[in-house]
Amino acid sequence: MDHDDQPILRVRNLKTGFVTPAGAVVAVEGVDFDVRRNEVLAIIGESGSGKTVTALSLIKLISTPPGRYLDGSIEIDGHDLLALDEKAMEAVRGRTIGMIFQNPRASLDPSFTIESQLIETLMRHESSLDRKAARSMAAKSLQEVGFSDVARVMASYPHQLSGGMCQRIGLAMVLACNPKLLIADEPTTALDVGVQAKILLLLKKRSRDTGLPIIIITHDIGVVRAIATRVLVMYGGHIQEEGEVDEVLSAPLHPYTQALIRSIPDPDQHPDAMTFIKGEPPNLLAPPRGCRFAPRCDQAIGLCHEKLPDWRAAGPGRMVRCHLALAGAAQ
Ligand code: SF4
Repeated sequence: MDHDDQPILRVRNLKTGFVTPAGAVVAVEGVDFDVRRNEVLAIIGESGSGKTVTALSLIKLISTPPGRYLDGSIEIDGHDLLALDEKAMEAVRGRTIGMIFQNPRASLDPSFTIESQLIETLMRHESSLDRKAARSMAAKSLQEVGFSDVARVMASYPHQLSGGMCQRIGLAMVLACNPKLLIADEPTTALDVGVQAKILLLLKKRSRDTGLPIIIITHDIGVVRAIATRVLVMYGGHIQEEGEVDEVLSAPLHPYTQALIRSIPDPDQHPDAMTFIKGEPPNLLAPPRGCRFAPRCDQAIGLCHEKLPDWRAAGPGRMVRCHLALAGAAQ
């Protein structure tokens, strides 16, 4: 196998949970996936589907109680992250795995200029850099994310900049450290449409130019369509469907994916034609015994309420967790 075909990230049977005053919750269960170079993997689902817990699990940000890893493995470049202590994980975050989050200001310190924060980050990640070299890298990195007035941006404090500018600076900071994998959790949700498109283009360009693998967590199918090459659809803490974006969006196998796609607003349609997914996501303190989507699924049969569907191949590069889809695929 070509070295480039080896997964950068390999997640197997990941199970993470939380102990809450109301009881134990398994928020993510039986999650398996790989991420390779040149790949933009989208993880999509409603709030509470497990997509953000999956992302936080990958960088061990749920390992502090009440969060707990209950099973599975997370390997990056062949190294088992679950075997690393917190000090070793601090080195992994940023250098090996870069992260950008929904709130673009959260990663910036309001009391320092952008210049000092970028220089500090670069020198922390590359100890051989002197201040002058770090400053020059910081300026280059800001240019790469589309700033033309770099000197003004460098001299600014975060509160003097818009949310979209702060998100681009956060991205510049992460990309300047040359991570092996980038995790972007709802990176454009808080931004207006024009800025959203700019950030997605930047991510896509970086992946295309350097092969940087990206995991993007989103609830927005438009974002998946714009940037991702492969998609995982999550619901109730399980992955329900996986495949190439074009295939999953044009011919979804899982009733939950079908319902998600039907619920996208279409400006050409009358508002009454839009469908919503009836009901509520499952209470993970007491999840359904069978398929987690069964109480909301308009195709459910008796078996769905009794038995959890297996996670099985449904064609080349396609996986699905649904009794009916698997019966269809076997015909
Ligand atoms: Fe619907 Fe049954 Fe498939 Fe679950 S297993 S998605 S309930 S048809």
